[in-house]
Amino acid sequence: MDLFEHQARELFEEYGILVPRGEVTDSPKEAREMARRLGGRVVVKAQVKTGGRGKAGGVKLAADPAATELTARQILGMDIKGHTVGKVMLAQPVDIDREFYVSYVLDRAAGRFLAIASAEGGMEIEEVAATRPEAVARIPVDPAEGVTAAKAAHIAEAAGLPPQAVDILVRLWEVLVREDAVLVEVNPLVRTARGQILALDGKVTLDDNARFRQARWGEEGAAHDDSLEAAAAAKGLNYVKLDGEVGIIGNGAGLVMSTLDVVAGCGARPANFLDIGGGASAQIMADGLSVILSDPAVKSVFVNVFGGITACDAVADGIVQALATVQLTKPLVVRLDGNNAARGRAILDGRAHPLVQQATTMDGAARRAADLANAA
Ligand code: GDP
Ligand code: MN
Repeated sequence: MDLFEHQARELFEEYGILVPRGEVTDSPKEAREMARRLGGRVVVKAQVKTGGRGKAGGVKLAADPAATELTARQILGMDIKGHTVGKVMLAQPVDIDREFYVSYVLDRAAGRFLAIASAEGGMEIEEVAATRPEAVARIPVDPAEGVTAAKAAHIAEAAGLPPQAVDILVRLWEVLVREDAVLVEVNPLVRTARGQILALDGKVTLDDNARFRQARWGEEGAAHDDSLEAAAAAKGLNYVKLDGEVGIIGNGAGLVMSTLDVVAGCGARPANFLDIGGGASAQIMADGLSVILSDPAVKSVFVNVFGGITACDAVADGIVQALATVQLTKPLVVRLDGNNAARGRAILDGRAHPLVQQATTMDGAARRAADLANAA
């Protein structure tokens, strides 16, 4: 889950990283009052969970409280890359001498973190990274060792950051570890005209597996997470998006994972992973199918169920009832085996939906689903 900038700012402040004074609101009138409290001139910043706000017109300087109200009115409700601005942060403007970039990001493939830092931060950082990679230092961080003062000094030196950045690098690492983050990014980290180092913008992504102990961001965060994963999680489904074409629904993580392998073995790629667990009620099937079918990459769907405590006829009933509420738009291959398999198959045969086919073996069903996906 990504945090909003103002939430990241709040964290940075708790860990002793200097940030500009700021306040958040969803009301232009209140923005005017806040600007007065903050000294008149403020930067009005759209709070959306996407970058590039500056370039999209979501970060604007307002000269006085009246201008702040107008600017807030303009930015609230704005669409930035598909995100509607619901709140703005008003920040005390900073006199920038220089902009830097620092981040820690989880490198899953390497099983480590990566410190990325540059003396050329700001809105053009992607451009710098693409055209002059040597201007961006990338230093692996062993999670067991972490970022000590010595490590931070090494990162700062490699990137050409000023010496005051060393302390900030250590504190940012503390944010990452203690807050269960998989990404912490400050862009820009600025040196002010008076020589102070401040985090002017922050992005923090929390590890969803740690959500249970980061309840603090709970409802508000989830409410703004519009991913399919979040939609599935809200319905109590375990859904993981992958990058292929065959949608997969199964009962039990082990069966689902072997289904992914069998589909891959048939020359197709799984589009996702949806474990309906022990339950296969009509509601769960309908929810599962609607999640899978709303992924535009899906070309065929494979439902692979081994009936145990949840018998196959209950699963088949669930599918039939789901077909009444969800409009099936892709071919569905169903393999039912185990407890009450014959009754389950008969129920699906009775429904005779033109897009639903059955196969008696897992291999046969996987091949059918793969062929259908590849032919689409
Ligand atoms: P982003 O575009 O979403 O990354 O939003 P940022 O918060 O990073 O703001 C974009 C840019 O606006 C920064 O890189 C700064 O150059 C500029 N900016 C933001 N706040 C201030 C400020 O207080 N003073 C000045 N001079 N520039 C600012
Ligand atoms: Mn930024």
